[in-house]
Amino acid sequence: MNMTQCPQCAHKRKGEEYKCPECDCFYSPLDEILAEEALQREKRSFIGRLRAIKAAKNPIKAFIEEYKRENKAAPYNITIFLAIIFMFVFMMVISVM
Ligand SMILES: [Zn+2]
Repeated sequence: MNMTQCPQCAHKRKGEEYKCPECDCFYSPLDEILAEEALQREKRSFIGRLRAIKAAKNPIKAFIEEYKRENKAAPYNITIFLAIIFMFVFMMVISVM
């Protein structure tokens, strides 16, 4: 299998992309697995969570959901982490208004 171009439209692959930007097709089954793994890692990461909150239709609600989830896992030492997220969301809301 030629992994340097798209199997569907033969668009030339650039760098470490998993998907063809032209037709949204994975370059290979291996790339599909790697992309999925990267997505899961991103979701679990701090920045990934911030992005999820930012992308939500209602950031405040998303933040509260995230807070509840974190609170179950670690009730005390997560407070500072959440304060930072809250400030981030707050500043975002201010910038929108
Ligand atoms: Zn393609």
